[in-house]
Amino acid sequence: MSASRTVICLLRNDLRLHDNEVFHWAQRNADHIIPLYCFDPRHYQGTYHFNFPKTGPFRLRFLLDSVKDLRATLRKRGSTLLVRQGKPEDVVSDLIQQLGSVTAVAFHEEVASEERNVEKKLKAICCQNKVKVQTFWGSTLYHRDDLPFTHIGGLPDVYTQFRKVVEGQSRVRPVLSTPAQVKSLPVGLEEGTIPTFEGLGQTEPVEDCRSVFPCRGGETEALARLKHYFWDTNAVAAYKETRNGMIGVDYSTKFSPWLALGCISPRYIYEQIKKYEAERTANQSTYWVIFELLWRDYFKFVGLKYGNRIFHMNGLQDKHVSWKTDMTLFNAWKEGRTGVPFVDANMRELALTGFMSNRGRQNVASFLTKDLGLDWRQGAEWFEYLLVDHDVCSNYGNWLYSAGIGNDPRENRKFNMIKQGLDYDNNSGPPAKGRKGSSYTPRQHKDRGIDFYFSNKKSF
Ligand SMILES: Cc1cc2nc3c(=O)[nH]c(=O)nc-3n(C[C@H](O)[C@H](O)[C@H](O)COP(=O)(O)OP(=O)(O)OC[C@H]3O[C@@H](n4cnc5c(N)ncnc54)[C@H](O)[C@@H]3O)c2cc1C
Repeated sequence: MSASRTVICLLRNDLRLHDNEVFHWAQRNADHIIPLYCFDPRHYQGTYHFNFPKTGPFRLRFLLDSVKDLRATLRKRGSTLLVRQGKPEDVVSDLIQQLGSVTAVAFHEEVASEERNVEKKLKAICCQNKVKVQTFWGSTLYHRDDLPFTHIGGLPDVYTQFRKVVEGQSRVRPVLSTPAQVKSLPVGLEEGTIPTFEGLGQTEPVEDCRSVFPCRGGETEALARLKHYFWDTNAVAAYKETRNGMIGVDYSTKFSPWLALGCISPRYIYEQIKKYEAERTANQSTYWVIFELLWRDYFKFVGLKYGNRIFHMNGLQDKHVSWKTDMTLFNAWKEGRTGVPFVDANMRELALTGFMSNRGRQNVASFLTKDLGLDWRQGAEWFEYLLVDHDVCSNYGNWLYSAGIGNDPRENRKFNMIKQGLDYDNNSGPPAKGRKGSSYTPRQHKDRGIDFYFSNKKSF
C-alpha cells in the first residue's frame, strides 16, 4: 500500500475556499490537507522608507475576521485552519520536520519582491527536504498564462491598449468548484490560536458610524456583499452613474478589501456579472465593474513586468523629479490640515475609517505630488499603513500613475481640487427633493473650471 500523501496549503492573500486552485489541487492529490495561515512578523514592522506601521488597525481587524471566517468554513467541512505566528518559511520547515512525511507544499504566487522572497525561501526548504512545491496563479480575472503576449515584457504601458487586446484575445477561466468536504488533517497537529490585536502590538480601531465601509472581513461577508450589491438591491445596474460618489456604502461595490485578501475571487465576480446580465439586465454599469477589475489586473501585470521598479522614486519612466520630503507639509497632508477642504475631509476619512473613495484617492494623491511636490512614496506608504484594502500593485501602480511617472500617457496631469470638491463633495445643504442622498453622482458644472490642469512645464 502506498504511503499517505500530506499537502500543506499555505494561504496568504487567498483566504477563501471557492475558486481556490490550491485547495482544488490538494483535494485531488492528497490524503491529508493542512490549511495553514501564518501571521508573518515582517507584516507588523515599519514600511520600507518612512517606517509607518506596515499594517494599520483597520486592515488588521479585517484580516483577523477573514482568518476566523476561513477557519469556521473549514471546520464545517471536516477540516480547520492551522494558525501560527512566524515566518511562513520557518513554520513550514518546522511542520515538515515535525510530521516527517509531507508530500507537497502548495501556494499561490504573488507579485512583489517581499512575497516572492518568501516563495524562494519556501522552495529552498522544500528542495532540502525533498518535498514537492506546487504553485498557482489565482489573484487576477485573466490568468497570467492566458495573456496574449509572448512574454510579460510585451505588456502595453497604456491600460486601454492592454484592455482591448485582452478583451479581444483572452477569456476568463471558469470558476473552480468549492469542495463540500475538505480532506482531513493528519493527527496530532495543534490548531493554534488566532492572535489578538495586543498580541500583534496593535490596538483595536474605534468604529466610526460615518464609515462608508462598515463591513467585516471574510469570505462569508464577501459573498453576502456581492449578493446585496447585485441581487438584493440591483445597485450594480447603476454602478457607472454612482461609482464616483463619496458617501454611503452602495455608491461602489466595496469589493476591494475582500479582493486584496482573496476572500472573493475576481472570476466569481465576473461569473456573477454574466449571470446578472443574462437574468436581469446588461448595461454599461454591469460592464464597468469588469472594466475596473481589469485595472486591478493591469497593475498586477505591471508589477510582474517592472518588478521593483514600481517602488523606485523615478518610477517606471525613470523620470527625475525633485520630490521634497518636507515633514511639516507631509504631516499637514496626512492629518487633513492642508486648508483645502476636499483634501482634508478625505484624509480624515482615511484615518478614521481605513477607507477612501477612488475619487478621493485620486485627488489627495494629485495634491501631494503635484501641488505639494512631496515624494510620492510618502503618500504610498501612508496609504499602505492605513488602507483596509491595501494591495501592493494597485496602491503603488495608482500612486505612480498619479505622480506622472507610471502608466498615465498624459503629460503632467493635475486635478483642479476646487472644481473636484464642488462637483463631488458639494453637500453642505440638505439634498434637493428627489435627489438620491447616499450615492448621488454630481453633474459637471461648466462654470467651475476644468477638471485637470495640463502643463508641459513642471509645476513645482
Ligand atoms: C492613489 C491610489 C491608491 C489606491 N490604492 C489601492 C489599494 O491599495 N488597493 C485597491 O484595491 N485599490 C486601490 N486604489 C484603487 C481604487 O481607489 C480602489 O480599488 C477603489 O476605490 C475600491 O473601492 P470599490 O471596491 O468600491 O471599487 P469599485 O469602484 O467598485 O471597483 C470595483 C473593483 O475594481 C478595482 N478597481 C477599481 N478602480 C481601480 C483602480 N484605479 N486601480 C486598481 N483597481 C481598481 C478594485 O478591485 C475594485 O474593488 C487606489 C487608487 C488610488 C488613486
